[in-house]
Amino acid sequence: MTIQIKTQEEIQLMRRAGVIVGETLALLRESVKVGMSTIELDVIAEEHIRKSGAIPSFKGYYGFPCSICVSINDEVVHGIPGERMIQDGDVVSIDCGAILNGWHGDAAFTIGVGSMAPEDVALIEDCRKSLWAGIGAARIGGHVSDIGHAVERSIVASEKARKVRYGILEEYTGHGIGTEMHQDPHVPNFGKAGRGTKLVLGLALAVEPMITRGTHRMRTLEDEWTVVSTDGSRGAHWEETFTLRPDGTPWALTSLDGGESELKA
Ligand code: MG
Ligand code: MG
Repeated sequence: MTIQIKTQEEIQLMRRAGVIVGETLALLRESVKVGMSTIELDVIAEEHIRKSGAIPSFKGYYGFPCSICVSINDEVVHGIPGERMIQDGDVVSIDCGAILNGWHGDAAFTIGVGSMAPEDVALIEDCRKSLWAGIGAARIGGHVSDIGHAVERSIVASEKARKVRYGILEEYTGHGIGTEMHQDPHVPNFGKAGRGTKLVLGLALAVEPMITRGTHRMRTLEDEWTVVSTDGSRGAHWEETFTLRPDGTPWALTSLDGGESELKA
């Protein structure tokens, strides 16, 4: 396993790529509406990424045809934008990546569109919370598995508080990121703390909890991309690329405020 350690100058370059991803996601969040097709969102994203001088990293990645993934309801990740219309009450996950000067950013969010079932609102919120719990658990000198442990603990706490059960995806994980979108190490969304790669200055990771209101079991559709839950349960997916500052605090490179407001909460 080779782990890429970045200099602080390189981290600054990653921040610039991350801001473009953060801006693109903010734009998509404002744009997404009932009656819109998912390819329209893709056009908005690609335009913004290219206008910013960056390259959409998803486009052409193992043949992926678009600049973002849009996954609706039981589609949890890797949905391909197309003519599908967003409908009232849909759970829409949008994942975006950009490359600037060779450095990558990767982030995602899930949003409920129109009038939402309270269970779906809870799913989205609980997944988001677990992302920040994971990032907030990272410390210089800690371990990568501290992140997944905190993600899982957050989800279990939400399950208890709401008396629900969620499925945490197992085959899909977060990852190292830098001059490639996907690098070592894997960052699973569950497990024991204190194991695996040490968290050091210059490590950059994409943390991305993926959960459903039912099973953790997934299958891939015939398009060879779209990952759906086998029981049809709806899923949520949140992601940020982050690093640790020299003072040891987490810095969400794909978040416009660096993750400050979320990490404070
Ligand atoms: Mg992503
Ligand atoms: Mg990722």
